[in-house]
Amino acid sequence: MYLKRRICNVHFKELKLNEKILGAIEQLGYTEPTEVQERVIPVALQKQDILVKSKTGSGKTAAFAIPLCELVDWEENKPQALVLTPTRELAVQVQEDITNIGRFKRIKGLALYGKSPFAKQKLALKQKTHIVVGTPGRVLDHIEKGTLDVSKIEYLIMDEADEMLNMGFLEQVESIIKLLPSNRTTMLFSATLSDEIKSLSGKYMKKSVSIEIDAAE
Ligand code: ADP
Ligand code: MG
Repeated sequence: MYLKRRICNVHFKELKLNEKILGAIEQLGYTEPTEVQERVIPVALQKQDILVKSKTGSGKTAAFAIPLCELVDWEENKPQALVLTPTRELAVQVQEDITNIGRFKRIKGLALYGKSPFAKQKLALKQKTHIVVGTPGRVLDHIEKGTLDVSKIEYLIMDEADEMLNMGFLEQVESIIKLLPSNRTTMLFSATLSDEIKSLSGKYMKKSVSIEIDAAE
């Protein structure tokens, strides 16, 4: 005999999401939230800072993409959420997931990454964008050059934070954070929690909720 790890299965419908978001989730074929989604989504919808540790493949992208798509105001023309990722591939993947989840709300996500023409991204940034996803170097470059307006950023997500630090992005991440409005919600996602990550979260997050999903099967 064994004990079932999840005692009761929650449906996305119980997470108080808009019909448009629920419809998109259904179209993606997600029938029930993963454990990290079930725990993170209600807290994120309350706009609380969160530090999340959960293993690779556990569904962390939708854990922040669903609340972001739910929370952003479609009417606002300036970007309201910034997601930092360690790589270009991940930025593109996250942007695609956001586009899929926000499909029926017509949420516009934009990926910004290095080794790609700056001018083209500058042009894209002139269009209405709700959520910007990017690698730290290029995002900082756009903020410093005034092509990315962060004055309306309400949500900052650091995705795969352990990878971002391993790749040496700490300084750029900190420079970006200092340029964002201080009245914002910050969420940090990582597969592992090192002392460096704990110190980063302690430094830039207010009274954060810590959610750690046990990797033991
Ligand atoms: P992580 O960031 O934790 O490594 P991802 O967000 O990349 O994980 O998700 C891993 C995979 O699980 C993706 O292919 C994603 O589409 C799928 N997935 C995410 N949430 C669900 C869900 N609720 N039901 C089914 N599949 C899901
Ligand atoms: Mg991930």
